[in-house]
Amino acid sequence: MSAAADAPRLDRAEAYTETVHRIYGDRRATPPARELLLAVAYALFVAPGEPGRVLTTAARALGRSSATGRPRFDALVADDAPRYEPPRTAGDWGPGQAPGCEAPRLRPYVYRPRRAAATGEEEAVVPLRPLPEPVVHVGPDYIPPVDYRNEHGICGAAPHHKVLERDPRTGWVLAHWFCKRHVDHAERVTDQVREQNAAAPEPIPNRGGLLPVYFKAPWEEVYRRYAAPSWSPPPYGLSADGWPDPGNPPPARPRRLRAL
Ligand SMILES: [Zn+2]
Repeated sequence: MSAAADAPRLDRAEAYTETVHRIYGDRRATPPARELLLAVAYALFVAPGEPGRVLTTAARALGRSSATGRPRFDALVADDAPRYEPPRTAGDWGPGQAPGCEAPRLRPYVYRPRRAAATGEEEAVVPLRPLPEPVVHVGPDYIPPVDYRNEHGICGAAPHHKVLERDPRTGWVLAHWFCKRHVDHAERVTDQVREQNAAAPEPIPNRGGLLPVYFKAPWEEVYRRYAAPSWSPPPYGLSADGWPDPGNPPPARPRRLRAL
């Protein structure tokens, strides 16, 4: 921990105020992350000093989850493990959840209402109350919006094949979806992105990494203890302050240069 235990009381109060101010101004800190950072700041600068036991004090201050009974500190630290999280569209979607097929549309989409099922047995039909007249909430000059499938010129059918494209500068993932009928497009795009994906850098982290921004500690050890077993430190460093800006990443370097 960065603050010396024997620092004058006033310095500690000032450092606490300044740190809390920065935490509240940090747009990366979601409410749970903010609570974790504030608890560590409290343990470091305010709580009666137990040098070397700052994280224990922070964990005690955060208490246990009312739902699981487990220490909240553990889950909050695990959630602050620096990592890249791909977008939801790149995940495994159930039927009807993924975005529509993005293969090009050749004929305009035309809405065809389903015809009512005819039973042929009049006596089986249950008499229903007559439906009220439909209410139309638009003016006479209203033009219905263009169907999104026609507007974007895409198929839009239920997706089946997923192709992941990696950004050559950030390593971030972009998902392309295709329906069963457009498997040829899925294969073509797979071939198209193969080389680019192989050359893409490790993805720039987009989650966590805030504890090292504010406090000095052997954070890699701490994260290893609480994060998922598959977690490993990103090559861009643990602190979110040290990561390249995904909006303006450094120019991509060809992979082979690294071997020189
Ligand atoms: Zn399609």
